Amino acid sequence: MRYEGMVYRPPSEAYSFILQATIGCPHNKCAFCNLYKEKRFRIRSVQELKEDIDEGKKYYGEGVRSLFLADGNSILMRTDQLAEIIAYAYKVFPRLERVTTYGSSQYIDKKTEAEMRTLREAGLTRIHTGMETGYDPLLVEIKKGTSVEQQIRVGLKVRQAGIELSEYIMVGLGGYKWTKEHALESARVLNAINPDFIRLRTFVPTQGSILAEKYCAGEFKLLEPHDALKEIRLLVENLNVESFLASDHYLNFWDVSGELPQEKEKILREIDYAMTLPRHRFRGLGMMESM
Ligand code: SF4
Repeated sequence: MRYEGMVYRPPSEAYSFILQATIGCPHNKCAFCNLYKEKRFRIRSVQELKEDIDEGKKYYGEGVRSLFLADGNSILMRTDQLAEIIAYAYKVFPRLERVTTYGSSQYIDKKTEAEMRTLREAGLTRIHTGMETGYDPLLVEIKKGTSVEQQIRVGLKVRQAGIELSEYIMVGLGGYKWTKEHALESARVLNAINPDFIRLRTFVPTQGSILAEKYCAGEFKLLEPHDALKEIRLLVENLNVESFLASDHYLNFWDVSGELPQEKEKILREIDYAMTLPRHRFRGLGMMESM
């Protein structure tokens, strides 16, 4: 397999075969993100990707059960090409059960409902989408390139196509200024979509990102652990979804996870418990090289 630069994948894809279907991110403007700054976006050829799948078989054998298509936004590939490599992977790996990729709302939006069904039929089983927030002013501030209206419409389109949807919320992204709006509006948008998974990641500035510059200039204050937990509590209290809530990221202050709505009370009790703990029980605040 050929890999270019650093390759990132969601925590839940830790055991997946990673196929770098695209290089970099076509948006590459989010104020909190520095993942693909060094890469110029391009889509790899079907031929190259088939060769990498064949290589993957030599390396891992036939037992691959899960495949993740990197880098950021491989959903942007032409539908016929994406469907072709997914179908080829199922042929090469007879035990393959899951094929997933990253997809931001503005790029999924370029696909018609029929194209989404084509991808599902080819075997695309899950899309990981960075919603980050359901609060429009914050989406503008972080230069996400999408809107709440688009996030809801696209989220419903993914679900209607029978593809699982994993939505990421970035805790603390609005700082102290918008912590309440961020929690309440994100809950409202998630309720409208009802995704299969809601995944929490706590915001930490990464070197080279716009928000890191603001943080260094003293223009952005990170939420302290108890305030981040308070934000999560407000979000969870207002969720009315049938989703699995996951905190599967090492930057989170506490693991709050469970099935919603069944385990909502348990999750809230867990947050309340964490909020009673002293500050030194949580990690420090600070800047990272990458997330
Ligand atoms: S957060 Fe996602 S969409 Fe935004 S720049 Fe980074 S990879 Fe691209």
